[in-house]
Amino acid sequence: MRSLEDYYEIVGDMSISNIHKKARKLYGKRILHINSTCQGGGVAGILASLIPLMNDVGIEAGWRILHGNPDFFSITKKFHNALQGEQINLSEIKKRLYIQANELFSLYTHINHNCVLIHDPQPLPLIKFYKKKQPWIWRCHIDLSHPDKEVWDFLKRFILGYDAAILSNEKYKSKHLSIEQKVIHPAIDPLSAKNKQLSESDILKYLKKFKVPTDKPLIVQVSRFDKWKDPLGVIEIFKLVKKEVDCRLVLCGSMAADDPEGWVIYEKVKKEASQFIANKDVIFITSENSILVNALQRSSAVIIQKSIREGFGLTVTEALWKEKPVVAANVGGIPLQIDNGKNGFLLEPLDTKGFTQRIVQILKNPKLAEKMGKRGKQVVKEKFLITRLLSDYLDLLNAVME
Ligand code: UDP
Repeated sequence: MRSLEDYYEIVGDMSISNIHKKARKLYGKRILHINSTCQGGGVAGILASLIPLMNDVGIEAGWRILHGNPDFFSITKKFHNALQGEQINLSEIKKRLYIQANELFSLYTHINHNCVLIHDPQPLPLIKFYKKKQPWIWRCHIDLSHPDKEVWDFLKRFILGYDAAILSNEKYKSKHLSIEQKVIHPAIDPLSAKNKQLSESDILKYLKKFKVPTDKPLIVQVSRFDKWKDPLGVIEIFKLVKKEVDCRLVLCGSMAADDPEGWVIYEKVKKEASQFIANKDVIFITSENSILVNALQRSSAVIIQKSIREGFGLTVTEALWKEKPVVAANVGGIPLQIDNGKNGFLLEPLDTKGFTQRIVQILKNPKLAEKMGKRGKQVVKEKFLITRLLSDYLDLLNAVME
């Protein structure tokens, strides 16, 4: 298991000693994180790294998962879509099933902690089913800049019981929410299997194992098959890029347990890319494998992130950390990470032509790719590593438990 000291070489003494200092008043405090999946998507990845580090600095941090049935996840995915701007039919039955799954969890889960951190909308109503004895914080990881009003008003009733809401971006703060709202940017773990240094032979071993040839430059998008990640848009761009540079596209998207739309979207995208599948110019990967993601990101010529909405975009952070140029949509948390023209290119999400031109430009200009990649790593080192995230959480816990 990693400990904070293992990060010393990356972030230096000051960061490490500051974290220990901030943890002093929190020794022995019991903190509970609750979300709804242990694999797939950014939240599970963050918790898997953050919680052991919290424990390492003297907190007693735990993680519980709200298990739902397929109906529950189909409803919460609709809520997720609505919070990102889509209209849905918010029926009474959806509300009831959503609340019931939370109530059921409360029947077999005791909470005697000093602070409860609820991640995303799935476990939001839990607060209703406990006698509140400690601060409850809602940590929302999704893009809240255009929420559907009806769903937002419904969820707000639960949110109002919380002591604070933590959002990923200043832009997501709401004038219509009267509780305290703070911003904490997500982060990546540079020592996790997904981001650690890999030898050239390991990279090749993984690419071979997952049947990804290396004879052409790779364009890679690592993202769940989700309409907000616009995989169909990626195929459209690939078709145009391919007319100018012979290259290969890899769409790597494991299926998250709390995302029931994945397979349907995957089938649609596969159909759209059918002409490229036989000769492996478009490759789909649906298995969950962190080292493979690492290897793919490290062996790509350019990373694309064509999202239409994006809470933060950890895949962008991961690619920047690996010194890769990223061509991405100017949405959500992506512009916090990419300085247009410096460490990647930002484009409006529907600017297919712009995406195509920038990808071709990078593919034809490896020197530019290298220069951009170096700058990208520096940005992540300064702002988006797990040690900074841990430090922000310690500030938050110190503030709410004072
Ligand atoms: N991810 C993965 N395998 C996949 C697709 C995604 O491990 O096939 C990871 C990805 O590397 C990143 C996270 O899931 O760490 C996605 O986080 P992001 O913020 O980009 O998007 P989210 O899925 O949370 O909307």
